[in-house]
Amino acid sequence: MQRVNDKRLLFGMNRIFLVSALLIASVSGAIAAALPPQDAAVAAVPAKPAPAPKAAGPKLVEPHLHIARSGVKGHARVALTFDACMGKADDRILSVLVSERVPATIFVTARWLKHNPQALQVFLENPDLFELENHGQNHIPAVDIPVSIYGIPSAGSPEAVRQEVQGGADAMIAAGIAAPHWFRGSTAKYDRSAIVQIRDMGYRIAGYSVNGDGGSLLGAAVTEKRIAAARDGDVVISHINQPTHAAGEGVAKAILDLKAKGVEFVRLQDVEDTGDDQTTQ
Ligand SMILES: [Zn+2]
Repeated sequence: MQRVNDKRLLFGMNRIFLVSALLIASVSGAIAAALPPQDAAVAAVPAKPAPAPKAAGPKLVEPHLHIARSGVKGHARVALTFDACMGKADDRILSVLVSERVPATIFVTARWLKHNPQALQVFLENPDLFELENHGQNHIPAVDIPVSIYGIPSAGSPEAVRQEVQGGADAMIAAGIAAPHWFRGSTAKYDRSAIVQIRDMGYRIAGYSVNGDGGSLLGAAVTEKRIAAARDGDVVISHINQPTHAAGEGVAKAILDLKAKGVEFVRLQDVEDTGDDQTTQ
């Protein structure tokens, strides 16, 4: 009798354990899904997600971007885009792009350019591979009302949005880079009036369709899996400025995986594209 009860007890405990494990798995899945597309190094990711904008706050959008599909079965066309927000250059990724001759679009800030002359040199020495575009001056979200996104304060006014965009472009030109045509703001979120303003300044706004590395905060294996799963017409966002994060290892591996699958890599300047929220139309 005692034995039976023990078994029942054990069975019950196993069930509790299983249910808890499932709960933990689903919660961590939800957390991964909520990870930012943008490198949040300027402020640690808050313990709980930033509250969704309420009626009082601005309505923020996080636009998607797709490129024209190849339309040929078994011949996917993918645009790899990398943000260089601040910090250093990730040579694990950069060296694979160069040695495998994989074209990519790199979004740089004035702040990152100032501290990475060697990586900039590699970009400039390989104009057939690298398209350089504008990620802003100081990595401040291009939202024209004061709001905090992943703990980063927004520009907060149209003047400050203009400064962030123009300051990024000015630094690029001063560094010997061609004038940019695309802008992607810090956090990849905008309000609609800022989108109109940035478009009026002559830019297309670069959303994405695959969040490759969750703001460089995901593990190597998850990052590799996400990017390697890119399909025809996808625009992948990940980071090239966090050499100490595990995500970069996954990015480098995924580039090789995609190449092995015969994927055609293109830069934004080389293809037609479609962005929602009036970002490219
Ligand atoms: Zn960034």
